[in-house]
Amino acid sequence: METLVLQGGRVIDPASETDTTTDVTIRDGIISAVGPTDPALVDHPDTAVIDCTGLLVIPGLIDLHCHVMTGLGDFCVEPDEVGVDMGVPVLVDGGTSGVATFDISRRAIIDHPATRSRVLAFLDPNQLYLATKDFICHKLEIANDLRNLDFESLEASVDRNSDVVVGAKARACHVGDPEFSPFLDAAQRAMGDLPVMVHLGRFPFTPVITPKALLNQLRGGDIITHAFRGAGGMCGPDGKAVPEFRDAVDRGVVLDVGHSGTDFRFKEARRLVDQGYLPDTASTDLNVFNISGPVYSLAETLTKMLALDIDLRHVIAMATTNTARAIGRSHELGALAAGRAAEVSVMRLRTDGPFPVSDGVEVVQSPTALQPVGCVRAGTWIPTSPLSTFAGTGKTWGEVPDDIDW
Ligand SMILES: [Zn+2]
Repeated sequence: METLVLQGGRVIDPASETDTTTDVTIRDGIISAVGPTDPALVDHPDTAVIDCTGLLVIPGLIDLHCHVMTGLGDFCVEPDEVGVDMGVPVLVDGGTSGVATFDISRRAIIDHPATRSRVLAFLDPNQLYLATKDFICHKLEIANDLRNLDFESLEASVDRNSDVVVGAKARACHVGDPEFSPFLDAAQRAMGDLPVMVHLGRFPFTPVITPKALLNQLRGGDIITHAFRGAGGMCGPDGKAVPEFRDAVDRGVVLDVGHSGTDFRFKEARRLVDQGYLPDTASTDLNVFNISGPVYSLAETLTKMLALDIDLRHVIAMATTNTARAIGRSHELGALAAGRAAEVSVMRLRTDGPFPVSDGVEVVQSPTALQPVGCVRAGTWIPTSPLSTFAGTGKTWGEVPDDIDW
């Protein structure tokens, strides 16, 4: 029996409202205990001990929105590069693929033995959809072509892949009526209780429904990614959240950060946070355009949440417990509890700041920063590779036009 002890860390588990200094013991890939470890077990020659003194031990981080189907188009980053090697054991691909190419991307990435990160996915409801650098599915106008929808095939794909498909990513294009998106509608009908992720914003080349119509169509549990980008229709000209946005949040629509190159702004986030709208989940939308800045990593995105003066435990929940709930996986992810598969992250909370962070436009000095140290994925300890940060590298990205939305 293989035993791994994460010893003496500050264990924060938002799911059980735990925040205490103790050990987490893992045996054969399963969390066997959260609490003081038997000294005899610690001393046993087959036990590996990771000294977590002064570190945070938290449920395995989950990135709710990233693009990791490498080899499918030219937009994605390697799953392990942004996953386990960044201290993030679980990734959710943000609808890189439509139905027709999902099974091959599943084989090539999700199920591939070389992929060490656990990858789940949002599925685009169209038969052919591919997130590419040049927006080819929008440029060819197949993202808004009804011939690209095949409801039976979509339903069959969701059934066939129910172990890894956690919802749909719908691009809310319309085919004439700016109040109705058949693509969003098909996604919601096919998903049943699973969430549909949308973004409030435009795509080049294809028309999308109005922000108000989109907000009105969202069900409780559906997810707005890029919710803190501004210019998405959440706030009126007076800076106040519009009624449709308030109603959507009241219905239980999830607010996700989905940082991306242009889709998170401190200014807009402050405006919504000041009105009581905190992010539920803090994802990255990591892809080839933003991994070298301004996004860099999930950890850097969480540091930006700390820079907004959001409580540490809530920030951790935004990439663990809340994320698991958003994808209907609370029973297996997002908590530290005996009997669960061991997905655990270990982070260092730096307090020797300030740490500059950038949303792409504005630089903010964060008094604290979260840095990954390593993670346990399926019971195996994986130390984190050195990460790029804005504090370490400065501005590394080119100009990105503000009206382009991935
Ligand atoms: Zn995306």
